[in-house]
Amino acid sequence: MLHHRHDLSKMNEEERMISPTFGSRELREPVPRYKLPPGEMRARSAYQIVHDELMLDGNARLNLATFVTTWMEPEARQLMSETFDKNMIDKDEYPQTAEIEMRCVNILSHLFHAPEAGQACGCSTTGSSEAAMLGGMAFKWKWKERMRARGKPTDRPNMVMGVDVQVCWEKFCRYWEIEPRLIPMEKGRYCINADEVIKRCDENTIGVVAIMGTTFTGEYEPVKEINDALDKYNAKTGYAIPIHVDGASGGFIAPFLQPKLDWDFRLKWVKSINVSGHKYGLVYPGVGWAIWRDTAELPDDLVFKVNYLGGDMPTFALNFSRPGNQIVAQYYNFLRLGHDGYRRIQQACQEVATYLSGKLEKMGPFECVTRGTDIPVFAFKLKDGAQPNFSVFDLSEMLRHRGWLVPAYTMPENCTDLAVLRIVVKEGFSRDMANLLLEDVGRALKHFEGQGVSRVAKKSSTGKVRC
Ligand SMILES: *Cc1c(COP(=O)(O)O)cnc(C)c1O
Repeated sequence: MLHHRHDLSKMNEEERMISPTFGSRELREPVPRYKLPPGEMRARSAYQIVHDELMLDGNARLNLATFVTTWMEPEARQLMSETFDKNMIDKDEYPQTAEIEMRCVNILSHLFHAPEAGQACGCSTTGSSEAAMLGGMAFKWKWKERMRARGKPTDRPNMVMGVDVQVCWEKFCRYWEIEPRLIPMEKGRYCINADEVIKRCDENTIGVVAIMGTTFTGEYEPVKEINDALDKYNAKTGYAIPIHVDGASGGFIAPFLQPKLDWDFRLKWVKSINVSGHKYGLVYPGVGWAIWRDTAELPDDLVFKVNYLGGDMPTFALNFSRPGNQIVAQYYNFLRLGHDGYRRIQQACQEVATYLSGKLEKMGPFECVTRGTDIPVFAFKLKDGAQPNFSVFDLSEMLRHRGWLVPAYTMPENCTDLAVLRIVVKEGFSRDMANLLLEDVGRALKHFEGQGVSRVAKKSSTGKVRC
């Protein structure tokens, strides 16, 4: 978040100072809120102030909005706290952490079926956003190479993707001056398809992004169809437009739940894949991965060397220093769970997601847009034609009173009249908790029934929200 400095001269004492009521035994002086306190305080008091302030944050376990891991085993927590002091970039000082990162890259490149013939490569990142930047940059540089080889100008690169892309792709385009060619949604189609992709490609297209598990509906985009259409298109035109798969969530779901689905390096034009270790990779926030099918896809120019045991270690990253412990935790999960463990957990999430979407649909006013059968994420809306006296936003608000965080939002342009609620099922959200949520939804429906007055009318009259 971008924060701005407050004008302290316009604030009263109360606003400028933290006044912890509990702390009267130890804290005699008020503590400034926006300036460095002039003196020290006891560790215990500082802990109490920060700890108590954070009680107002939502409960992570009831957070059905986030894709990010909210629970890890005690052993994983222990390993993480033992390794908080390791800086990932100090390859020379912590060669074993570097070794573990290397093993994770190997594990993922096998999981994503990188061809045996080539030499896959990859790196850890702070998350899928950084990984997306790296994948996009490799595309831009490779495209420039191709254009220069043909004596063509390189001043107007574009990238083809759906409006359903996560904001990191819009950032990538803005920061690296790429024209984003966004495929709009249509009623009933909330993903991209091969035809719409090909329509927007030309010689300035650096690549296509396809998502395995969109944040809007949790659907997989048809990577294989896009690959096959691009194969024909590239053959016809002589271009070499590649695909990057944004597998932020799906990269850790599809290999376990849909092993037969072709979406990864089994497809010729898929050159790079990003995945979030901190989503269905089951690690606490701060780790993602970028994997290339072959070293040839990663231009040398982009790779920097850092000192490593007297030699040079190639690195590709936007950050320099970064915690090493999340990589350690990723490796812990790989060892601890193996293929079977990941499959069991992801399957359990999927069962809860399909159970919950099915039950919600039976409640009457709801209809599912998706059911959690791709990644364990689904979106549901109010039935067409029904005239309930509440909106999805009202329901989201009501559930929040009980601690549940279930976001409601409208779809992007072209489909803005569709408003949905979305539930992300993660490990730690049991069927039992799903039943508790269902009870609370039922209670909210009763409450709205009793209310009579149409709240939705009020909202749609502003022109902002319709259900
Ligand atoms: C979460 C997400 C991202 C961003 O990933 P971070 O790991 O949060 O940086 C990108 N794309 C998709 C599809 C996502 O779900």
